[in-house]
Amino acid sequence: MTGTGGALADRLAQGTVLGAEGYVFELERRGYVKAGAYVPEAVVDFPDAVTELHREFLRAGADVMVALTYYAHRGKLRQLGRESELEAMNRQAVRLARQVAAEGGALVAGNVCNTWAYDPHDPASADVVRAMYAEQLGWAADEGIDFVIAETNDYLGEALIGLEVSQELGLPAMVTLATTGPAKTWDGYDYVEACKILADHGAAVVGLNCDRGPATMLPLIARIREQVGCAVAAQPVPYRTTEDSPTMESLRAEGVNRVFPLALDPFSCTRFEMADFAVAARDLGVNYVGICCGAGPHHVRAMAEALGRTVPASRYSPSMDLHPVLGTAASRQDRAVLDAWNVAR
Ligand SMILES: [Zn+2]
Repeated sequence: MTGTGGALADRLAQGTVLGAEGYVFELERRGYVKAGAYVPEAVVDFPDAVTELHREFLRAGADVMVALTYYAHRGKLRQLGRESELEAMNRQAVRLARQVAAEGGALVAGNVCNTWAYDPHDPASADVVRAMYAEQLGWAADEGIDFVIAETNDYLGEALIGLEVSQELGLPAMVTLATTGPAKTWDGYDYVEACKILADHGAAVVGLNCDRGPATMLPLIARIREQVGCAVAAQPVPYRTTEDSPTMESLRAEGVNRVFPLALDPFSCTRFEMADFAVAARDLGVNYVGICCGAGPHHVRAMAEALGRTVPASRYSPSMDLHPVLGTAASRQDRAVLDAWNVAR
């Protein structure tokens, strides 16, 4: 491990860092994670499935392999009766991420998230959260990570605990907020103000992840970018959120009772939309551009290529000229289909 912060700072200095997350959602779709609990049991039960998804994101151009320890904290594992496997799960998650990162020179991030144990009105809850973060990140640091991603923080108070624990371990931290509300964290801080406070406390990167799609995250991240001095991260969900439904949790579809989290498919962003987001975020000056729940490797590759990169999976990037109907030289070329494709695109 580096422990010095050098690797993340160096990578940020080279230009936009491309992140890829959403492991829990994707592994749920593949049958390796139980929706509801959303605990990454696959890390110990099906490590090959986790390794494969890491590799797919790496080949698609992700600069960071994030250890799959989201919700792998003591409180959640106790609920599932797997508390005794807590350390093994956390250590294994970092090993899997490290192994794949080494295949492509990616950074390795440890990961903690909101715990659902924090209560701003109960000081004792902060100690509970701190203890859970300390053991998770202690194991991660021991296995070797370049930095910490403390994410989907509903409370600034809980985010600051993640930052402090990272700092105590000598690890740089990227701390990002969930944005389920219109303007404020659950403990009442304007999102921009909360990011400024995190930056003032020494976070290497601050910003937003999850909940909002590109359309509703970009205006907020633009304000954050204007007002904080440190690096900024934006990792939206690839869903078509709107002013009326600014988060994936608030999306509603006619005839569908519950869209979030299992029936979001009709709102999925295309790869082209996520590519546009990557460029727009970079042009705003966002330093760490990524994607969260709902992400697929096709999104990540399109984002990487939009940022001007050729990545391992670019070998199989679309060549529609080779398509039997859409291809310009196709003998069975169908002008109407071609036009429809071009309009849709
Ligand atoms: Zn997410």
